[in-house]
Amino acid sequence: MNIWFILTGFVIGALLGSLVKALADRSLSKRSFWGRSYCTFCKKNLHWYDLFPIISFLILRGRCRYCHKKISIEYLLVEVVLGALVAVTFWQSFPSFQPVSSFQFLLKIFDLLFKTFFITVLSVLILTDIKKMFIPDRVVLPAIVIGFLLSLGLTIYKISYLYYYLNQTPIGRLLLPPKSDYFLRHAIYNASPLLSGVLMAVIIGGFFMSLIIITKGKGMGGGDVKLGAFMGLMLGFPQALIAIILSFLSGAIFSIILIILGRKHFGQSIPFGPFLVIGSLAVIFWGEQILNWYLHLSI
Ligand SMILES: [Zn+2]
Repeated sequence: MNIWFILTGFVIGALLGSLVKALADRSLSKRSFWGRSYCTFCKKNLHWYDLFPIISFLILRGRCRYCHKKISIEYLLVEVVLGALVAVTFWQSFPSFQPVSSFQFLLKIFDLLFKTFFITVLSVLILTDIKKMFIPDRVVLPAIVIGFLLSLGLTIYKISYLYYYLNQTPIGRLLLPPKSDYFLRHAIYNASPLLSGVLMAVIIGGFFMSLIIITKGKGMGGGDVKLGAFMGLMLGFPQALIAIILSFLSGAIFSIILIILGRKHFGQSIPFGPFLVIGSLAVIFWGEQILNWYLHLSI
């Protein structure tokens, strides 16, 4: 049972991997997101059986079916990596995947959807930023809107479920306004992930914006502001802060290594987006462990 659940995660991730690669490529070459995929050499339209993640690449041995030119190994890599990331997400949520009610079951499914969406968007942005130091607006801006709507939808669902649940019994109805502020307090509690996400989006976006103004645009760009806001929205408090700290740490370590190796000199800029992505992924997968470790350190 468990293994099938994880395998499902891998297949979904691999499918999303080919979407990620297509979105990244089309962003970089300024092509429309709509329209069919074609071979970049012979321009022939590709069929669905040419685009099957991982399997098509292996069957065709990494070559175009029509002109036999070599296809970049990147397709295979992105599909495998996304498959693995989503499989781990599914695996991590499995131990607690014993729903007591359909309400909790839906919450679990939603949590998986939310994380998978976040990982997919981050993967597109890390690819475009590594290649051309470019964070496409037409990916990150819709992602912010969708992330907000997902979070809003979940909040409305939780609060209306609470209302419906209380309203079913005479005792429950005593907890509804105007008799009691119980419902109101719990509604605010249920809305806190959304509120803290929006707050973190504004704080991180504003912080990055002020860094750009102070450093006169060296080292950070407008794309990082939007990516930072997206991270804040999706992770909330304190996870978004941890992700930002990890990003700065990993970016600093990576820069020092490059300088020691003589590949870069001091003050030369490298894209910051990939480190934001790495910090976010670390928090998605090990957020609790990192937080516990930090709290133990500070005691
Ligand atoms: Zn071809």
